Amino acid sequence: LAQAYLARIRQSDLNAFIHVDEALTLEQAAQADARLAAGDATALTGIPIAHKDIFVTRGWHSTAGSKMLAGYGSPFDATVVEQFRAAGMVHLGKLNCDEFAMGSSNENSAFGATRNPWDRQAVPGGSSGGSAAAIAARLTPAATATDTGGSIRQPASFCGVTGIKPTYGRVSRFGMIAFASSLDQGGPMAQTAEDCAMLLSAMAGFDPRDSTSLDMAKEDFGRDLDKSLQGLRIGVPREYFGEGLAADVEAAVRAALAQYEKLGATLIDISLPKTELSIPVYYVIAPAEASSNLSRFDGVRYGHRAKEYKDLGDMYRKSRAEGFGDEVKRRILVGAYVLSHGYYDAYYLQAQKIRRLIAQDFQEAFKQCDVIMGPVAPTVAWDLGDKADDPVANYLADIFTLSTSLAGLPGMSIPCGFGQGEKNGKRPVGLQIIGNYFSEAKLLNVAHQYQ
Ligand code: GLN
Repeated sequence: LAQAYLARIRQSDLNAFIHVDEALTLEQAAQADARLAAGDATALTGIPIAHKDIFVTRGWHSTAGSKMLAGYGSPFDATVVEQFRAAGMVHLGKLNCDEFAMGSSNENSAFGATRNPWDRQAVPGGSSGGSAAAIAARLTPAATATDTGGSIRQPASFCGVTGIKPTYGRVSRFGMIAFASSLDQGGPMAQTAEDCAMLLSAMAGFDPRDSTSLDMAKEDFGRDLDKSLQGLRIGVPREYFGEGLAADVEAAVRAALAQYEKLGATLIDISLPKTELSIPVYYVIAPAEASSNLSRFDGVRYGHRAKEYKDLGDMYRKSRAEGFGDEVKRRILVGAYVLSHGYYDAYYLQAQKIRRLIAQDFQEAFKQCDVIMGPVAPTVAWDLGDKADDPVANYLADIFTLSTSLAGLPGMSIPCGFGQGEKNGKRPVGLQIIGNYFSEAKLLNVAHQYQ
């Protein structure tokens, strides 16, 4: 298996993988063979997986898509990576992503954008674009990804694969290079909900090395896959179907909702009135946390260091100026500004209060329904280059994924059809399924019944 996937990766020019080490992969594959032969295997033993380059890995480079960490080798594995190793999975390599997971198109990667395998002119989505493109192109059967404001769900949607962002705290953040710590959450991507259930069961669980890790027992997230959906109440938020939603996306999502009715579910009209505010709130809170998290990249302990400098201050400034890309710098500036004296109350504190109201909206909604469904993004994947110079256009495209992250709720994207490409034909559409806290097994059940 590992050899077959490595051969496909070698032939691919999508730029989904940014670091491959075939010898290391084959070494792990041999270990998996030995485990299988010894009768000491789990269901995942020998199955290949690739990791978003935001998870640190011993052996493979760990760059977070940044020049700041180009060639960096971590002395340890992220907890998630360690857990998949313990299950016997075989690591294929590191997947491209937007720099420090900041972006919606993968174009913010210092290693160049990944292409969408459905239409090479299209972006794969972001920030986990490498993960989604690699699965869609069958370069790996499974991948890790992270979602801070949509980075699992939106690329899964753009590339026609399945991804789940778990409840905040389900999956350890230890060894996951930090972007916005109160939002960052790792999760799996694969072809199907069934595969995601197996992967999530292996990767979730309490980790004393992550202070926000949920102290809950291990779960089999696939336990309810085959349950009937008879009587399921699906909330359909008005705000997710308004102006700005492309007609082709709306048609595919409504067709999926109709299919759910056939499976025994009822559709309930609900409202999430603060949806629009999730954009300004997220783009205050996420940069604020990023500005703090990224202060560790100072050219001293690890990462890029400028070659010439006058003194320590000059070394910091030059190393950071050279190492970080434009979007990362923009967020550090915004974040430092909203946290500064005099602006903290007006922006940061205000955003935190609205964040609470957004979470309350969901709790009101869940009094009327079991899950919420809608589009993942307002449009299908756009063309490479189209929004590359327009950060605000990128931010606006996150409208349907940000509030779930702000509330810490689990959410999924499953493929539900195709829309039109701007020029070159079909591009995938994803259906978003949002559940209440800890409802991952239900989300996976709902997804699996459709698939
Ligand atoms: N697109 C959003 C951003 O740029 C979300 C990214 C993410 O979830 N990592 O911040």
